[in-house]
Amino acid sequence: MSVYLDNAATTKPCEEAVSAACNAMTENYGNPSSLHRAGLKAQLAVDSARKAIADSLGVDSGCIYFTSGATESNNLALRGASAAYGRNRRKIVVSSVEHASVSETAAFLEQNGFEVVRVSPGEDGQFHAADFVNACDETTCLLSMMMVNNETGHILPVKQTFNAVKRKFPEIITHCDCVQGYMKLPVKASALDADLISLSAHKIHGAKGVGALYIRKGVRVRPIVTGGKQEKGIRSGTESVPLIAAFGAAVRKYNGNIGERFERASQLKNHLVNRVSSISEIAVNSPEDGSPYIINISVVGRRSEIMLHYLESREIYVSSGSACSKGQQSGVLEEFGIRDKRADGALRISITAETTEEELDIFASALHEGIVKVRS
Ligand code: PLP
Repeated sequence: MSVYLDNAATTKPCEEAVSAACNAMTENYGNPSSLHRAGLKAQLAVDSARKAIADSLGVDSGCIYFTSGATESNNLALRGASAAYGRNRRKIVVSSVEHASVSETAAFLEQNGFEVVRVSPGEDGQFHAADFVNACDETTCLLSMMMVNNETGHILPVKQTFNAVKRKFPEIITHCDCVQGYMKLPVKASALDADLISLSAHKIHGAKGVGALYIRKGVRVRPIVTGGKQEKGIRSGTESVPLIAAFGAAVRKYNGNIGERFERASQLKNHLVNRVSSISEIAVNSPEDGSPYIINISVVGRRSEIMLHYLESREIYVSSGSACSKGQQSGVLEEFGIRDKRADGALRISITAETTEEELDIFASALHEGIVKVRS
């Protein structure tokens, strides 16, 4: 039996998503831009998914724009908003632990004349709203901050930060990469005070290659892909109806039981932390109050790739750091004060509410065995 514990990298599409995608590939294969009935039917499938996502965020359907994934949503948010608002306001503020799709885009904008301020966690290892407010000023056009860190599960104080920043600098555009929080924590655009929100379908049991950007009404974002003016000109290119329909189906399935699944994931996280804490070489890197879906631990003195491949030989799949960085250290752990041998031995276990205690026990036993074998 294989044990898949890499759900922050990607999730298995749910049956509803697969059947929605299949339907759009076999029956409803029209182009949503076509003026005939087949086109209209495809457009209705796209609109239905758009409404499901909009409802989940508590916003109007007209504010949801489909993209090829959160990497593109984050690029569109940062490049598009800085192009629209950055003529006289040349500063961008980001957290120091953003996913590469934000941090690399910020670095690109920095090379192109923007000042980028990266806010780090405090001495206590936590982010503080006041540090972001202090980093902002009248020259700031954009503040970008993720909801849940994909490597450690830290929950960032997005709501407190955006509320405080908007009170002092209402003209600053606020962007939240909600990829690891969506369908796991409550994500409501107005409570967050977010102007822009990035989402990805494949982290929530939809398909890879589709995501969305919420753009608050009245907020300007200059397109980065130009062409046939689909998605109201914000994102040209024929909409991927199968992937979008699958995204909508996954949202409809999971939106109603976020709280229940959070409780279950919390029990599972406690179970795993209790199991591995008895192993002397293990240090837990994720905070107790972090997302229950991501548990980062270190096998101190064993390189993560070696442990990862040992576990893989037992058909147990976890990640070392972030899956997107393919083994390259991203610097995020260091930002949270996890360095040297502890960082070198970091493993990320990411679960769903459907993960079982048995699977976690299999992982913990194999980890224990691996520690002994890898040492010898
Ligand atoms: N943002 C975060 C926090 C992520 O974890 C990921 C993927 O790992 C992304 C953005 C990129 O998402 P996508 O794979 O849809 O491009």
